[in-house]
Amino acid sequence: MTTPYANILKPLHLGFTTIKNRMVMGSMHTGLEDRFYNYPKLAAYFGERAKGGVGLIITGGISPNRQGWLLPAGGTMNTMGDIAPHRLVTHAVHKHGAKILMQILHSGRYGYQPFVVSASPIKSPISPFKPRQMSEKQILATIRDYAETSHLAKLAGYDGVEIMGSEGYLLNQFLSRHVNQRQDRWGGSIDNRMRFAVEIVRAIRQKVGEKFIICFRLSMLDLVHDGNTMQEVIAVAQALEKAGITLLNTGIGWHEARIPTIVTSVPRAAFADYTAEVKKHVTVPVIASNRINMPDTAEEILAQGKADMVQMARPFLADPYWVNKTATNRVDEINTCIACNQACLDHTFKNQRATCLVNPRAAFETELVYVKTAKPKRVAVVGGGVAGMSAATVAAERGHQVTLFEASHEVGGQFNLAKVIPGKEEFHETIRYFKVQIEKTGVELRLNTKVNREQLEREGFDEIIVATGVVPRALKIKGGDAPNILSYAEVLRGAAVGHRVAVIGAGGIGFDVSEFLLKPPHQPQPQPLAEWKREWGVDAEAHYMTEGGLQRAEVEAPVREIYLLQRKTTPLGIGLGKTSGWVHRAQLKKHAVRMLRGVQYKAVTNEGLWVETNGQDQLLRVDTIVVCAGQESVKDLMPNEGQVTLANYHIIGGAKLAAELDAKRAIRDGAEIAAKL
Ligand code: NAP
Ligand code: SF4
Repeated sequence: MTTPYANILKPLHLGFTTIKNRMVMGSMHTGLEDRFYNYPKLAAYFGERAKGGVGLIITGGISPNRQGWLLPAGGTMNTMGDIAPHRLVTHAVHKHGAKILMQILHSGRYGYQPFVVSASPIKSPISPFKPRQMSEKQILATIRDYAETSHLAKLAGYDGVEIMGSEGYLLNQFLSRHVNQRQDRWGGSIDNRMRFAVEIVRAIRQKVGEKFIICFRLSMLDLVHDGNTMQEVIAVAQALEKAGITLLNTGIGWHEARIPTIVTSVPRAAFADYTAEVKKHVTVPVIASNRINMPDTAEEILAQGKADMVQMARPFLADPYWVNKTATNRVDEINTCIACNQACLDHTFKNQRATCLVNPRAAFETELVYVKTAKPKRVAVVGGGVAGMSAATVAAERGHQVTLFEASHEVGGQFNLAKVIPGKEEFHETIRYFKVQIEKTGVELRLNTKVNREQLEREGFDEIIVATGVVPRALKIKGGDAPNILSYAEVLRGAAVGHRVAVIGAGGIGFDVSEFLLKPPHQPQPQPLAEWKREWGVDAEAHYMTEGGLQRAEVEAPVREIYLLQRKTTPLGIGLGKTSGWVHRAQLKKHAVRMLRGVQYKAVTNEGLWVETNGQDQLLRVDTIVVCAGQESVKDLMPNEGQVTLANYHIIGGAKLAAELDAKRAIRDGAEIAAKL
């Protein structure tokens, strides 16, 4: 079969071993790594990705010792007793011809535990614990721990290890002046700052021999003040190569950096040029990373010689079969990671198991199982939003005969509104994925069809899934029927909006709508990379001389004056996702959106919106009011309790519960009900 993805599918020969293609599943903590009893689940999770065709997998971070724990009692490998559960993982991966590295991660001052250590005793802004400065003795002991952990990883069947040296973890803390303010041989010049990392690689190589992969994940762009320059990054890369690494992986930005590096508004492959710059100066294969989620982007990076391999982590949660689908020209079947972080990283930060918003089976492979049905039923799904599409396609995949009714002319529901928000263009992909699934699984789709219960029962369905979603909540206020009061749905569908706007309700949608209104009428294309870098203050020069690659941000003037309002007295946006909320808050702040809390809405008049704050009446002279005050469920198809019906009824997604309506629950609800039919 001819393929437009020849570079992705080309094996990589490392001399002593061969990786079957150029795709790497990057390290991502699922939460399953930390407890031995979860390893059967972890093995199923990695095994499925290996079966899906990926060439190389890197596990979530495992600490070389207690000081390196990210969380109390985190996954550690430093005794023979630690290796048994890992054998389940390596076996599950090797069975399908993929290779696997164990990542060794010492969190340094990022640890959420009291034993934290670092280069210098400087507290990080993202952990409450102040680190102790590592003594010479502790540094030498830690080097031995890394070597011993690598040796144990080899015994557990891993093909190699990855040393986590980026994202602001311990080795990155030593590498950069941002944290390393030591005066001894481990601090000061770049030669001294890199000594710890280089000695670790040397010690591991000596312990494990030549035929074992050592990958080093190096920060190619720190994005923090006092971070390294590109010249320093290259010097470190060359020294690591000399010390014996096999692969050089890319890390971008410290976790504490205030520049987004992976959220959905970051343009695809935004950082590949920095990796390409380093690649010019080393001979070991180099791996590109960050915001790469589809084959065209990966192929282009490889074809242009910017990297030898491409790493993705979240996209393999979204679709374990990404490589096989690419290899067999079924790219339109890929369930694309939309970089929302809602079910993966946001879960990790809440100490919950990571999974995926668009693929609720991720990390639940043994629990959410789609078995072919022995008794096909006639199933009606009413509502073509993501909940309905998820239910319909899973039920059909299992062998049921499914009809999906959608009242409007298109499927997608609330995702059709989300996809027009600047920076949320990836949401198009989810709609495309479900449309293809509807076709492939044989769901009968009836658009422009509003059905009632009598019609459904007349057609003789066995099971009826009500996924009729939500309607925006209207605002109850004096003057509330004025024509300049619009719902968020009307605005996102293109209603005319004035130049001075009050947005009522500061949930996810209030923030999204504010961003939508700040910019000129939105083009469906993602933001150009150069413009994005200017807006966030990222040095566009691949061989950047600025420290950490930071520059002064240049923000374009907003096209509207906006007030964002809420009744609560808490800071606006604190309920947004942990890993993406700060990006939205920063965007609105940069564009001078006025955020008011503790607001009572009094009346809408010709002059604007009257509100009360701190006991004072205030007139906001606005010409348009956009209501983003949550939603109400549409559930009139559901029979009342005790009512006799011919079919079994189920209700899912926003129709079931509008409060905290979210796509993660909607898609999972749909999949779970369909798995049980
Ligand atoms: P939401 O998060 O529930 O926010 C609704 C807002 O409306 C609240 O700020 C609430 O604040 C206000 N409100 C509620 N009832 C009101 C009333 N009767 N009158 C005036 N104000 C009222 O809902 P949403 O913004 O519509 O978002 C829905 C869901 O979509 C979210 O749960 C989220 O999961 C998802 N989403 C997330 C994102 C994101 O993370 N970026 C973006 C879009 C959507 P007060 O009560 O304090 O006024
Ligand atoms: Fe990607 Fe969102 Fe799934 Fe995470 S939850 S893997 S970001 S789609």
